[in-house]
Amino acid sequence: MWIIKSIILILVILITTAAGIQLYQHRHDMIPIVAGERVTKVVKLSDYSKGLKGTTADTLVFFLEGKEPGGKVLLMANTHANEPSAILAALIFVENAVVDKGTLIIIPNFNNSASRNTRPGDGYPLYFEIPTEWGSKKFRLGNRDASWVDQWPDPDVYVHYPDKQLLSFIDTRNTNRTWPGRPDGPLMERVTYAAMQIIREEKVDVAVDVHGAETMFPVTNCIVAPEKSMRIATMTSLTVKAREKFDNHVEPSPSGFRGLSHREIGDFSDAMPFLLEAPIPFLDQPTGPKTVELLLNGKDPFLLSLSKKGKLFVPYDETGWPMDKRVGQHTSVILELMRQFTKKFPEKPIVVKNVPNYADVVKNGVGSYYHDPEKADKARVYLN
Ligand SMILES: [Zn+2]
Repeated sequence: MWIIKSIILILVILITTAAGIQLYQHRHDMIPIVAGERVTKVVKLSDYSKGLKGTTADTLVFFLEGKEPGGKVLLMANTHANEPSAILAALIFVENAVVDKGTLIIIPNFNNSASRNTRPGDGYPLYFEIPTEWGSKKFRLGNRDASWVDQWPDPDVYVHYPDKQLLSFIDTRNTNRTWPGRPDGPLMERVTYAAMQIIREEKVDVAVDVHGAETMFPVTNCIVAPEKSMRIATMTSLTVKAREKFDNHVEPSPSGFRGLSHREIGDFSDAMPFLLEAPIPFLDQPTGPKTVELLLNGKDPFLLSLSKKGKLFVPYDETGWPMDKRVGQHTSVILELMRQFTKKFPEKPIVVKNVPNYADVVKNGVGSYYHDPEKADKARVYLN
């Protein structure tokens, strides 16, 4: 009997070690970002909230300051680190944007802990690669929530601060439920608090939180906006729809649902918040295996049949929903938000050039906008 027990023990040790090594590497791997020539400074989120110093939740903040003053935009991606069209769009801005007027502040990897987490129960791949002219650029695929390694244990119920609304226990690790946060709260509240401090100290006018959403969820292909952002959101949505020919609509931010960026940023600062959603078939429940191919091309036979039954909230056919389309939608909507803001507040212009719109990204591919970190000036390469 002891022989069988020993064999089982050895097998358990081998399996956990093999899996553990992969998870350890995923948690510690860094993604190189080549800061474009117009990036004027790079700081840490902990510079705005000391409670993040030395934790895995700390992350890079890129400033692109224009030659002329103007409005200020904060762009956040990887709030949910399993919605990668957001970070891919944010890095197009970091690596290429030329800001003529105003300031762009970009946090490409907002929930750093979640970007080092995974969802083994759903069989998530740990990485995905985007083809470029110089090879492929590798990214970590994270999870919706921060890792237990960084914030543990979960409470039975998450009591939102300061509203005291009762939220699901898991939302204590979800950086789109922990706004506006506290400097000494749970780690994810410290992340959102630091972003609130950026918004308040830097006098940010526009805060954009970039996401992806299931095709079976009605809040997709849209801009979520509270009352104060509604006019600019509506003008942006109508313009991209008419001019750039992709679906978009506006969803009002519900005032009674607390903790979300599009609600709390507006209520706790002078900034206008916007949350962008583009479809991500990978996140839908009734799909085949969660493969890298599904993540990148959005093709799935089950979604196709559901689409024919009218169950999806986006147009869907055999071509799936390629990543280039989703990233291009984000860049176009962000650019148009800045144009509409400038139109409404000409005394605070935000003029950004050299960023591709939807048609450009679809034509050239998202990878064509990333620079080779091996060939770049080492002083401009940041690891995130
Ligand atoms: Zn999301």
